[in-house]
Amino acid sequence: MIEKDKPLEVRGVGEVKPGGTMPERKNFIRDIIDEDLKTNKYSGRVHTRFPPEPNGYLHIGHAKSICLNFGIARNYKGFCNLRFDDTNPIKEEQEYVESIQKDVRWLGFDWDDRLFYASDYFEQLYEFAVRLIKKGKAYVCDLTADEVREHRGTLTEPGRDSQYRNRSIEENLDLFERMRKGEFPNGARTLRAKIDMASPNLNMRDPVMYRVLHASHHRTGDKWCIYPTYDWAHGQSDSLEKITHSICTLEFADHRPLYDWFLDELEIYHPQQIEFARLNLTYTVMSKRKLLQLVEEGYVGGWNDPRMPTISGLRRRGYTPESLRLFADRIGVARSESTVDVAMLEDCLRDDLNKRARRVMAVLRPIKVVIENYPEQVVEDLEAVNNPEDASMGVRKIPFSRTLYIEKDDFREDPPKKYFRLSPGAEVRLRYAYIIKCTDVMKDEKTGEVTELRCTYDPETRSGSPQSSRKVKGTIHWVSAQQAIKAEVRLYDRLFNMENPGGDNWRDFINPKSLEVLNECKIEGSLEKARPEELFQFERLGYFSVDTDSRPGNPVFNRSVTLRDTWAKIEKTGT
Ligand code: ATP
Ligand code: MG
Repeated sequence: MIEKDKPLEVRGVGEVKPGGTMPERKNFIRDIIDEDLKTNKYSGRVHTRFPPEPNGYLHIGHAKSICLNFGIARNYKGFCNLRFDDTNPIKEEQEYVESIQKDVRWLGFDWDDRLFYASDYFEQLYEFAVRLIKKGKAYVCDLTADEVREHRGTLTEPGRDSQYRNRSIEENLDLFERMRKGEFPNGARTLRAKIDMASPNLNMRDPVMYRVLHASHHRTGDKWCIYPTYDWAHGQSDSLEKITHSICTLEFADHRPLYDWFLDELEIYHPQQIEFARLNLTYTVMSKRKLLQLVEEGYVGGWNDPRMPTISGLRRRGYTPESLRLFADRIGVARSESTVDVAMLEDCLRDDLNKRARRVMAVLRPIKVVIENYPEQVVEDLEAVNNPEDASMGVRKIPFSRTLYIEKDDFREDPPKKYFRLSPGAEVRLRYAYIIKCTDVMKDEKTGEVTELRCTYDPETRSGSPQSSRKVKGTIHWVSAQQAIKAEVRLYDRLFNMENPGGDNWRDFINPKSLEVLNECKIEGSLEKARPEELFQFERLGYFSVDTDSRPGNPVFNRSVTLRDTWAKIEKTGT
């Protein structure tokens, strides 16, 4: 059994919790850092940050960025800050701030006392802006958002100067102060950097630094009615925190000249921005906007729905921090865009759980089996191995009796060729128990549906006993009817049935059959005390986690991932 969420211990910088591995793999970012250390560029310091905007829950793409930033800090014995990039009061919420911290911790990382908010710097950013105005490098502009866009030009045409571009420094200082005081309505004026309307880089065509927005902020309340843009807030926040390497995704590469321009004009400490390719996954949408729509439009049960690619959804599904860190390590860090097969993520979970998850037996779609030559009152305790990959996990006793359940699908009245499971007259081994033979099939008179199988067992074939040398081709799982517990099991399929569900009509590719709920499952009694987030392998069926909806007496399981090569394995061992 895996304890997934021990209370957080206060640990050193970026250290991972026990049981975890951190990648030491080389990548181009580490090469840059190695070089900077050699040249003593930042006096030997390595200081990164993870800067989420609190406008949604974190997803697996963020996990890549978290593992990268906190991982680098750990490997270089440096630091990594958690900084909320909370510059847009309209979309941001305290709920997200809390969920993000929880998710980063759960992944196994810690920021110690280095929790920051861009909003902590609003006053400082304002002073920086005044400094640029005084240098003649920023001006208050009265163009509307549409007009600004229209003046900006295109990739092939230069932009046009705003008629407000040449306001005097005094007028700019006065207007900027009055913007702050709340004298102007939303959108009436902006503060813009005075750079170059003909620059081939559109980001350099007098970008907006502040907009008027009369909105309450989740931390600063109504103190501000002008809010900085991402470009204006980000680099200066990096500088104030003395970040050395500001790692972000590729779409910010075109913003780097602006990042550098602000820092150079302000003549303040200058971190280095480095871009890497964001994670894209097949059959998955990753943007927070779309994830929010999935939640708000009711396609899923919430941000932590086990079908969501959010960290909290993956966690509920049964993903472990170890499996996500392993994934981040395997996909690596590159400079060019690519899409990772979601199967790779699933493999990481299998590899992790294969070593750690206890094996149990559960029957998802039960059919009753009566062993006619087995005595009625007898219950035998048979020995089952908890994890063939790890002998230290020991063995447990499972009850065997006259009435059992097996999977409906493990019986065929008219078996196809090479069907090695149960069929009339055929033999199969019950895992950890005996070889049984099907002697009769009971059916519902009206529907013709098979309701019960009558079998005999061969007492000489008990697993592990010296006489049990007889072999049959198939081995199936089962539970003893009387001792089994009823459970709900939720099976998941991909949320999208298209490999790349992009475009405006991405919702058209939502898989209507991504969730199947089975209410009549029978699980072995040893699962009675299983707690939410515990993980098991149901033999032959996959890895399953106990859902947070689970209650004593009403257990609920999620299938985290199927097994890769169930049949091959079971037929080989034949126990
Ligand atoms: P989204 O585009 O999914 O809405 P975002 O980039 O707006 O995400 P932020 O909260 O701004 O989300 O991201 C915080 C950090 O996580 C940023 O440094 C960003 O580069 C990184 N990040 C976001 N998405 C991915 C991804 N798919 N792969 C790797 N890193 C990512
Ligand atoms: Mg963003």
